[in-house]
Amino acid sequence: MAKKIIVLDPGHGGKDPGAVGNDLLEKEITLMVARKVAKRLGNYDVTVRLTRDDDTFLSLDTRATFANNLRADYFLSIHVNAGGGTGFESFIYNGPVNSVTGNLRTALHQTITTFVKSYGIVDRGEKKANFAVLRQTNMPACLIEILFIDTAKDAAFLKDDEFMRGMSDAITAGLVRILNLAAVTPEPQPEPTQPSTPVWNPQGEIQKLIDAGVIFNNHPVDAPVTWGEFAAVINRLLNSNKQ
Ligand SMILES: [Zn+2]
Repeated sequence: MAKKIIVLDPGHGGKDPGAVGNDLLEKEITLMVARKVAKRLGNYDVTVRLTRDDDTFLSLDTRATFANNLRADYFLSIHVNAGGGTGFESFIYNGPVNSVTGNLRTALHQTITTFVKSYGIVDRGEKKANFAVLRQTNMPACLIEILFIDTAKDAAFLKDDEFMRGMSDAITAGLVRILNLAAVTPEPQPEPTQPSTPVWNPQGEIQKLIDAGVIFNNHPVDAPVTWGEFAAVINRLLNSNKQ
């Protein structure tokens, strides 16, 4: 089966800073989160592509076309809210979408809100809107609005490294869950080389005794031994111990 493809779309960029507030720029937060999620998804069997991986401006058309050309399996647009509210919300297209889009969004939304609620942050709900990137993408798509940049309480979370790590982990966990991604198994380590089992070499054993002066003739390995020969060998050993 072909590897699944996720397109992460960090909102805004370049000349378009997105929402601004509390010394934060939306375009910087969205890129940071997208990069963190992409890095974490590196541990899973999935191809991750970012619509932008630097501070450049992209039209909404360009973002959707990028995902459509890749025939991506999922499109996630990452944004930060503004307007004086608080909390987390997610969007799917408000036009006709198949049930998969809704089901995947619900599972992703739940994974992320379980995380934000642990910080006492409000779940603003699963919403629908006529956003271009949701309307123009051919695959199941979701747009998340992570907190409010212009609300002091939310902005404090957006500036908190630990919270943002947790947020990126939650988004990653949600994507892993909805796309049923398998963890990449680490490269198998080479087996430690077993100590070689000594192979019984009857001719070699006889040669060792000849070298040691315990027996004198190169007897065939399967020749029978008489009591006289056996006694002579034992006596040679006893004598050699006395020396
Ligand atoms: Zn935005």
